[in-house]
Amino acid sequence: MAPTTTTYDTTRYPRIAARRPATRTVEWFASSPHRVLRRRNGEATWAPAGTVHARVIGASTTACGVPAMTWRMFFGQPFRSIEPQACRACVEHVQEAKGSRRV
Ligand SMILES: [Zn+2]
Repeated sequence: MAPTTTTYDTTRYPRIAARRPATRTVEWFASSPHRVLRRRNGEATWAPAGTVHARVIGASTTACGVPAMTWRMFFGQPFRSIEPQACRACVEHVQEAKGSRRV
């Protein structure tokens, strides 16, 4: 049988609503127009510098809507709202997208 997509009235079926996340899990990575080379344990890695925005793979803009086609994506570094250089507009967008959970 072919897989089908079913939508549920979550007000009528609260158990289904609890089991199924409201939004698909999206992985947000750090992205920034500037980068800096950092050394840790003798290994050099590129890290974002300045304001760090959130971006998903394949997106041409950041979560806050800034065009970022030429910016580097830092795949080893998920976007973290707790970092002081995190873009506040991106933080708000990501938290909204994740259902107000902390990222
Ligand atoms: Zn941003």
